[in-house]
Amino acid sequence: LQFHELGLDDRLLKSIADLRWAKPTLIQEKAIPLALEGKDLLARARTGSGKTAAYSIPIIQNLLQGKMTVSEQAIRVLILVPTKELGQQVQQMIRQLTVYCARDIKVADISGQADISAQRPILMEKPDIVVGTPSRVLTHMTQQTICVRDTLQALVIDEADLLFSFGFEEDLKNLLCQLPKIFQSFLMSATFNEDVQALKELVLHNPVTLKL
Ligand code: AMP
Repeated sequence: LQFHELGLDDRLLKSIADLRWAKPTLIQEKAIPLALEGKDLLARARTGSGKTAAYSIPIIQNLLQGKMTVSEQAIRVLILVPTKELGQQVQQMIRQLTVYCARDIKVADISGQADISAQRPILMEKPDIVVGTPSRVLTHMTQQTICVRDTLQALVIDEADLLFSFGFEEDLKNLLCQLPKIFQSFLMSATFNEDVQALKELVLHNPVTLKL
């Protein structure tokens, strides 16, 4: 399977060509068509598998297609990560994949330890995609600098097993309570332990499970 067979927007295909990726990795080949159909996904995938692009590509495609559009500028995608390093990587990947549609799709990474107040102006601009740790995202929700009740279209929980080992469980659960009922979810984890299974029950609707 080639990228151009996935029915992706030309701007997305062009950015993928710039990255010189010959073809989708195994997880991308499986995940992208399912995600484009709107399916929830539970994927066992580690760093190096191409997991970031496996969820980023369909999310960007859906945003571009307007399937995810609401009329006003709004935060439409939340990507939860356990560390600042992963947050930076995810933001960079999304920036690379959106170079030809950077005006239409904005991403902001708030996973760092920067001042909460310094992040406010960034969030006021309502980036389409926000990347952050559960704690920081929850703090902004409490302060109403992040408000996604009426606008959230997709949620990604990346490296879910690490979120638990790093003690984000409670913040994650509190955050999930504040989300609307309907949105597409992606749960990515290197291992499927009990915590991840419980999270699956909590956030995923009829998910497809990919064990790669
Ligand atoms: P990840 O598993 O998301 O951390 O990605 C690991 C690395 O694989 C990153 O440096 C990506 O840029 C790269 N990558 C992702 N998808 C592909 C692909 N289809 N072909 C070649 N490299 C890729």
